[in-house]
Amino acid sequence: MTSPVRPSAARILERCDALARCSEQPDALTRVFLSPEQRAANALALEWMREAGMDARLDAIGNVIGRYEGERPGLPCLMLGSHLDTVRDAGRYDGMLGVVAGIECVATLHANRRRLPFAVEVAGFADEEGVRFNATLLGSRAIAGTFDRGNLGRTDSNGLTMRDALRDFGLDPDAIGGAARRRGEVLAYAELHIEQGPVLENEGLAVGVVTAINGGNRFAIEVAGMAGHAGTVPMQLRRDALAAAAECVLAVERVCGAEAELVGTVGKIEALPGAINVIAGRSRFSLDVRAPADAQRLRAVAAIREAFAAIGTRRRVDVDIKPVWEAQTSACAPWLQQQIAAAIARENIPVRHLPSGAGHDGMAMIAIADIAMLFVRCEGGISHNPAEAISADDVDVAARVFLDFIENFQPRT
Ligand SMILES: [Zn+2]
Repeated sequence: MTSPVRPSAARILERCDALARCSEQPDALTRVFLSPEQRAANALALEWMREAGMDARLDAIGNVIGRYEGERPGLPCLMLGSHLDTVRDAGRYDGMLGVVAGIECVATLHANRRRLPFAVEVAGFADEEGVRFNATLLGSRAIAGTFDRGNLGRTDSNGLTMRDALRDFGLDPDAIGGAARRRGEVLAYAELHIEQGPVLENEGLAVGVVTAINGGNRFAIEVAGMAGHAGTVPMQLRRDALAAAAECVLAVERVCGAEAELVGTVGKIEALPGAINVIAGRSRFSLDVRAPADAQRLRAVAAIREAFAAIGTRRRVDVDIKPVWEAQTSACAPWLQQQIAAAIARENIPVRHLPSGAGHDGMAMIAIADIAMLFVRCEGGISHNPAEAISADDVDVAARVFLDFIENFQPRT
């Protein structure tokens, strides 16, 4: 008996490199929704899927979908996937690794002439990052049947609507509803993705099980004080909007630093009028709060609001907090977490559960199926950056674990 074929980490990495060459710029990676570069990446993915024994097609929004039938045709599927679009000046693994690894796992099943009691599909989502039209998860939302047709009127930086961009790509904007899959057709959605954070590396682990895709809140905050002359207004009589904002930033750090897995970030701040010799009359800053549990996140937001109000009162400034975005937590199903954990344990790796601080396609897919994620360690926790890197050994471990999960997958009865 010949020994079974195993997934090839080398081929996975070569294919990530090949996809990285489908880019707007020769010396950096940028590939946005409905671009010529996406067409090139789709062609590669379709070819690899067919080579792996799958029927492969583009759906109505430009997702690449491959299907490997089970023991008999037409069975419900375990759907694997991730996204093929990127941010600007991106790394080459965010998204692509999950698509390529999914194809590699199916190629291994095919080479071993293995059919499972369910079909396996691999989805390469056309848009997750939302770079071109400033609306995220377009590909997975189309599959989940939650695509908002209002998006079709959105324009890119050249003023081209999504509707026209779809037509230019050869797709029919009125057919997007046809990309939707029904609950029951998809037994579960599982995604392999780089961690995009430093937790696994810090603990010396190649892979981990994701517990939830964190929910989040974003706010735009404006502080109104009183502008004045930097030389003439005594310190006690000032209503300095920037100093108040600074105190707010530290309050966010204090509230969010007090609990594990809760994070809060002020990533942008502005002083107005913004001159060296003027006390800031106004300041504006952003706030992003995320946590794996909705209750924890809402408690933190309430504590931050309370702290801001106290700072405003004491400093005699108005602090206006405008909500700009909110997402609920998307929990990974415990029954799927167990099956991923079992596959990790079979590789003799300690099982680490961790939440995902970044958003993923599972946030959309959860509308039609339970979701699971396997995280792979990335060097320095770096992502959304050309320095994104993973080791061949980690890719090898992750592909083996993912294939083991697929081969032993038990649908929930
Ligand atoms: Zn991603």
